[in-house]
Amino acid sequence: MNTNNTVPSLDLRNFQPKSQFLLIGGPCSIESKEQMQEVAPILTQSGVSFMRGGVWKLRTNPDSFQGLGVEALTIFNKIQTQYPLQLISEITDPRQIDILLPHIAAFQVGARNMYNYDLLKELAKTDKPVILKRAFSATVDEWLKAAEYLKKGHQGELFLCERGIRTFETSSRYTFDINSALIAKQRTQLPVLIDPSHGVGLREYVPSLVWAAAAAGLDGAIVETHPNPECALSDGRQSLDLQQFQSLLPKLDAILKLDERSRL
Ligand code: PEP
Ligand code: MN
Repeated sequence: MNTNNTVPSLDLRNFQPKSQFLLIGGPCSIESKEQMQEVAPILTQSGVSFMRGGVWKLRTNPDSFQGLGVEALTIFNKIQTQYPLQLISEITDPRQIDILLPHIAAFQVGARNMYNYDLLKELAKTDKPVILKRAFSATVDEWLKAAEYLKKGHQGELFLCERGIRTFETSSRYTFDINSALIAKQRTQLPVLIDPSHGVGLREYVPSLVWAAAAAGLDGAIVETHPNPECALSDGRQSLDLQQFQSLLPKLDAILKLDERSRL
């Protein structure tokens, strides 16, 4: 594995919330070379520079696909020689910090690890941007307290991400909570992203949530995108196919233009 990857020119540390909207596309998990070969050109043609892709997965069911681990990084490194994409991936254990550091543009802290303060303390020692997801049972105060752990001494850009909470509602996977995304942004002045894919869990509603978040002045979206969602090894029901992903862009760009923003 090439651990001397040079970080390409686009850097999340220069993110400008007033003029930019960070759109991250890509699959829930990096599954294979073939999958990456299909996703990468579409993201690149669409002007997307940051790809999501799970390397290690935290699954509710221990028998579900757990991610390819370092093999996923090897696959992504090859893709990166062909396409100008940077990887954003979830860290599930502090022992992965040094492995992931040379390969990623940002660490994603998943909902299940928002309360893992030892992990947050270790990430705060790095200068890598971090995307901190809200746990599905966390109040805004708890979420922002977790962000405080990351702010202590951390040199990288910090992003918050609302990914849906657990409520009495069963017609969607989680309940996407735009209220709290707006409150978190106002209270912290940090950029706040949304993850509509987990937020609703049903792909047909994902584009509308991206447009709503952009219109509401939020700072970006992480959209699960897969060449063949029906066969995805994780989260297929909420993943857009590549054409659906491309189709959401013109309206997103039109909304951003109203605020003189553009996609990063
Ligand atoms: C993911 O992004 O694939 C994921 C597992 O998200 P969350 O931590 O929000 O459940
Ligand atoms: Mn997922």
